Amino acid sequence: MTSYADFHRRSLQDREGFWAEQAKLIDWQQPFTQVCDNSRPPFTRWYVGGTTNLCHNAVDRHVATRGAQNALIFVSTETNQERVYSYAELHAEVQRMAASLIELGVKKGDRVLVYMPMIPEAAFAMLACTRIGALHSVVFGGFASVSLASRIDDAEPTVVVSADAGSRGGKVVPYKPLLDEAIALSKHKPGKVLMVNRGLSPFTRVAGRDEDYTALREKHLNAQVPCEWVDATHPSYTLYTSGTTGKPKGVQRDTGGYAVALAASMKHIFLGNPGETYFSTSDIGWVVGHSYIVYGPLIYGMATIMYEGLPIRPDAAIWWSLVEKYKVTSMFSAPTAIRVLKKQDPAALSKHDLSSLRALFLAGEPLDEPTAKWISESLGKPIIDNYWQTETGWPILTICNGVEKQASKFGSPGKPVYGYDVKLIDENTGQELTGANQKGVVAIEGPLPPGCMQTVWRDDDRFVKTYWSSIPGRQVYSTFDWGIRDEDGYLFILGRTDDVINVAGHRLGTREIEESISSHANVAEVAVVGVADQLKGQVAMAFAVLKDASQADTPEKALKLEGAIMKVVDEQLGAVARPARVRFVSVLPKTRSGKLLRRAIQAVCEGRDPGDLTTIEDPSALQQVKDLVGG
Ligand code: AMP
Repeated sequence: MTSYADFHRRSLQDREGFWAEQAKLIDWQQPFTQVCDNSRPPFTRWYVGGTTNLCHNAVDRHVATRGAQNALIFVSTETNQERVYSYAELHAEVQRMAASLIELGVKKGDRVLVYMPMIPEAAFAMLACTRIGALHSVVFGGFASVSLASRIDDAEPTVVVSADAGSRGGKVVPYKPLLDEAIALSKHKPGKVLMVNRGLSPFTRVAGRDEDYTALREKHLNAQVPCEWVDATHPSYTLYTSGTTGKPKGVQRDTGGYAVALAASMKHIFLGNPGETYFSTSDIGWVVGHSYIVYGPLIYGMATIMYEGLPIRPDAAIWWSLVEKYKVTSMFSAPTAIRVLKKQDPAALSKHDLSSLRALFLAGEPLDEPTAKWISESLGKPIIDNYWQTETGWPILTICNGVEKQASKFGSPGKPVYGYDVKLIDENTGQELTGANQKGVVAIEGPLPPGCMQTVWRDDDRFVKTYWSSIPGRQVYSTFDWGIRDEDGYLFILGRTDDVINVAGHRLGTREIEESISSHANVAEVAVVGVADQLKGQVAMAFAVLKDASQADTPEKALKLEGAIMKVVDEQLGAVARPARVRFVSVLPKTRSGKLLRRAIQAVCEGRDPGDLTTIEDPSALQQVKDLVGG
């Protein structure tokens, strides 16, 4: 067996040889002529000259050998449905969806926006897009009209695929009114809206625009839509994520490099085998859903579970019952979900036979030691933390047990994954930190490995400026996370360097939340910060200055106004972005040059020392925050 250190070294020193080998894990229509073209950094191109197709690799290529095997297992504890699609059935469904999209005018290179709950048609739509060379742009179903409108304007989709409603905790959550409102708000008007009607929530149809999927599917029941062979560098999708500014970025991914990266990760990281079952509890609206609900497991010939519902309904044993029933071998979740399960019923695991399970993978937010210890002891299986981002599409740090079994350390996601040349950079000097236990910005020396973002959709300039400008003259990608490396080479992640917060594993931009709150008629100014939370990791806290302070001069009035402001956020961005509290102050802590002191506000909220305050304009402003949070 190769040692992991050698494996990692080779991935960087013999980049071409290493990734040419990994490329054998997928099917190519035309072989590539160059593994890595980095002649125009940071715009690295992988597998140049090769042609392939993501949907072919995820579906078609398995039909001959495992047509009758499980491919997509849909379980909804919201609608009490359970439906298993074999690879042959998935193949047929994807072609029905592809034929429907083509009939609605979708062509290669067009964008299709998917605003869907966790139902099989969402996966069919994604696969149908990549099948025909169109780009999907999935928007998380928890986002509301303003978030959706900004994504519609940026992606300019030909078609939107949506559904009447989702459901959460047994409560129907209508999607269609939010979509209609978003299209009313957006400048770009998609030509068609393809509606999956689940019969959960009646909706109004817009004549000439809205199409019914049941009817179109029926029409294309026997559709045969061949896969469009695309260049390895052809974009497969865009996925929006939050950053420092209010405007979300469209992370653009390629085809060939992504397929190879995912296939390799199933083998080296996620301990999968073809024919086994993978269960990721994420949502297709997030990158984990793209990589490890839809594409990764399917590309590797595994069955994947798509779960609609809460982890604790009907009870906290539901996920473990699925592990037992479908003999799940690899499971992927987030620390918040594990904390919720522990709180609800710590003994739920023991009710089920979990012998099929090889490991539980956790990602998306810091994994705290009590949670890691509890789940590790309760499961009696390895718990493998992995750190990555929407931008990279697959893990940057973890323990690659598929290469060599290595110990995990509590609090650390692990070591740099093969293909990633991870560095720590001093924020002030831009110098690389090579010693142990020095805090720096986690960065990756380019080129990034296959599968990572190609650019920001239609904004190369923003891609370069945002991610690649930390060390002038060098091709170094910034993750915007603080990190530290110990003597043994394990990295620890210490939180974001920018204004991004992580609420229950969901990445949110505080600037977006501030913009939304500011749209309330009585808000003059607002600061939103992320504050540590026992259950969710972080929650958003807002401090607002009012135009008319008399609207909040009694506790009752303040509470009412707080509720009204939260409603604005719910309606514009979605409940996922709602701050835990909105507090009112007469002035916000700022520097003399007018910059908001967000880090100082955050420190005070967390009961920490706010640090150097020599530049603060009005010290009483921070005192107001302190008084409110009881510090
Ligand atoms: P997203 O793009 O939504 O996947 O969010 C990426 C961000 O989540 C990273 O930049 C980190 O701040 C955080 N994150 C993801 N995984 C981990 C992890 N395993 N440990 C600590 N933070 C994480």
